Amino acid sequence: MSDKQVAIVTGGSRGIGRAISLELANSGRRVAIVYKSNKEKAFGTLKEIENLGGEGDIFQADVTKWKDIEEVVKGVLTKWGRIDILINNAGITRDKLLLKMDEEDWDEVLDTDLKGAFICTRLIARHMIKNKDGRIVNIASVIGEIGNIGQSNYSAAKAGLIGFTKACARELSRWNITVNAVAPGYIDTEMTRVLDEDVKKEYLSRIPLGRFGKAEEVAKLVLFLVSEDASYITGQVINIDGGLVM
Ligand code: NDP
Repeated sequence: MSDKQVAIVTGGSRGIGRAISLELANSGRRVAIVYKSNKEKAFGTLKEIENLGGEGDIFQADVTKWKDIEEVVKGVLTKWGRIDILINNAGITRDKLLLKMDEEDWDEVLDTDLKGAFICTRLIARHMIKNKDGRIVNIASVIGEIGNIGQSNYSAAKAGLIGFTKACARELSRWNITVNAVAPGYIDTEMTRVLDEDVKKEYLSRIPLGRFGKAEEVAKLVLFLVSEDASYITGQVINIDGGLVM
């Protein structure tokens, strides 16, 4: 077995996931970039990794589908023989006020942002258990802690992800697997670029550091959490939000 660690990053093709994939590859890990539909973006991230001398591959899969993730696990193990790190990052928003939110908006967000993390963790943790070692980082959100108008589905999913993180941290600790959540505030990605200018201005006025965050800043925190230096940190939710929530 190669001594290089292997990481799976869901939604690793763009935004925060892309930045995490690049950081992990730059630190010498092999990275499996999981994307749902935008192959071009996933391929672009892989090329960036390779241009920097790193190693990775792309895997098309929907995190809400057991079969898809089983195929990813099979593919990664066939290619590299091990899985050390899982970053549950894939996520979507379907914002609507509560009285306008239909079941489909609710289910789509809960399925992707919460159940997707369960499916990936459920299928990948067993390989970490075999190795008696592993790092899992769930990308939650400060919205899971404080709620937000128009995001009852997203707030519920991210709050659920925080609870899931703590339960998994307790269960998996005996095999030396740490499970933590990172809760970003407003980070400049495609997910947030679509927001109204008025909404953005309002958010900005509430951020003590006076700016939005960068995907790279979130990636650096994730890199720390998967490192040996973070070996005694588990079950934590670490906010990275310019002081928005304190
Ligand atoms: P983006 O919209 O930029 O990227 C989302 C990524 O998730 C894409 O790679 C997309 O793949 C993938 N994805 C979406 N649905 C699925 C699915 N069903 N199966 C597999 N992959 C999927 O999002 P961000 O980078 O902004 O957000 C990443 C994470 O960070 C999310 O969980 C989000 O909730 C969280 N977050 C973001 C914040 C922000 O301000 N941006 C703040 C707090 C939390 P494809 O392109 O192929 O569709």
